[in-house]
Amino acid sequence: MTAPTINDGADWFTEVCEKGGSAFSLRVRKKLHDEHSPFQHIEIWETTDFGNLMVIDGFVMLSSRDNYLYHEMMSHPALFTHPAPKRVVIIGGGDCGTLREVLKHPGVQHVLQVDIDERVTRLAEEYFPELCASNHDPRAELYFGDGIQWVKDAAPGSIDLVIVDSTDPIGPAEGLFSEAFYRDCHRALGEAGLIVQQSESPLLHYESIIRPMHRSMRAAGFADSVSLQFPQPVYPSGWWTATLAGKQAVVEFRQEDARAKAFATRYYNAAIHNGALAQPEFFLHGRTD
Ligand code: SAM
Repeated sequence: MTAPTINDGADWFTEVCEKGGSAFSLRVRKKLHDEHSPFQHIEIWETTDFGNLMVIDGFVMLSSRDNYLYHEMMSHPALFTHPAPKRVVIIGGGDCGTLREVLKHPGVQHVLQVDIDERVTRLAEEYFPELCASNHDPRAELYFGDGIQWVKDAAPGSIDLVIVDSTDPIGPAEGLFSEAFYRDCHRALGEAGLIVQQSESPLLHYESIIRPMHRSMRAAGFADSVSLQFPQPVYPSGWWTATLAGKQAVVEFRQEDARAKAFATRYYNAAIHNGALAQPEFFLHGRTD
């Protein structure tokens, strides 16, 4: 018996990763939606085994099957690191999956999601309704506009946590990976303030994104930063990071609260948090401190 190949007659969605000399494919049944919004090209596919798939400008954003890994790791580690997070701002995150996770924390009083493209949210409501289940929570507010400008205009000390859940650093998201943006975040954050940002793959983007991100966050005034690792099968290389920076240390977290959390998660727990903080040798040698 020979192993099936992608030339087996089925239809496949493929994201080519030029930089990695690699590609990732999902078997699809049909394309459910295709549109050019004022900001980007958005596609929704129905796959055979990963549920629905959202693609922006040819890059996989999320699948129904594995988005929980990313959304839980973009939210809970930061929320359990801050001593008492009440005011949270999500920059990007239009699919609302991160918003849903943040709202699981009863101490959070207000979460503002600032995505530049309302169409992403409207399509998520249609094709990923489970991610939008908490959108009508009275603590949630959706605002559609540029996150860079929003942070620039925010009142000093008015936020506890900024979560940057953006597309890759191209197009409207490019400025979200800059020292100037981190400086504005630093000013908008309160005393124990934190920022967490999706920071791509350690295998493919360590020198080009992860390391410069640490440098820029430190240069912007953050006292400490660390990249948390987690698996994300639908992203290039399958190995992903979220980089957490704080006005205070970020490697200690509220372990007891994480252990006693009164809400369900599928991946995150205190042990996973500790594991995600363990640093590969090349991260340690590349650290800017
Ligand atoms: N998990 C995803 C990933 O890493 O591929 C990110 C998902 S989320 C859909 C990314 C969102 O960032 C998009 O909805 C996009 O509209 C938004 N975005 C990009 N640039 C932005 C900006 N400058 N301000 C606010 N939102 C932005």
